[in-house]
Amino acid sequence: MPIYEYACGKCGHEFETLVRSGTVPECPSCHSTELDKKLSVFATAGSMAEAAPLAAGPCGSCGHPGGPGACALK
Ligand SMILES: [Zn+2]
Repeated sequence: MPIYEYACGKCGHEFETLVRSGTVPECPSCHSTELDKKLSVFATAGSMAEAAPLAAGPCGSCGHPGGPGACALK
């Protein structure tokens, strides 16, 4: 289940909450639903972990040893 980080647009309170589909999160401080949604904690960690090895590989997209773009040449 995704955990999202929010900043309340009304009182500025920042918090993390589990969001289930069909439910609207609200500020635990002032109960406003005017929230600025930030990046998911899980999504941020996951994308960073996956992006690093790809960028460091011989081919930026598939890891082909021939170098960047080699995989597209046939
Ligand atoms: Zn608030």
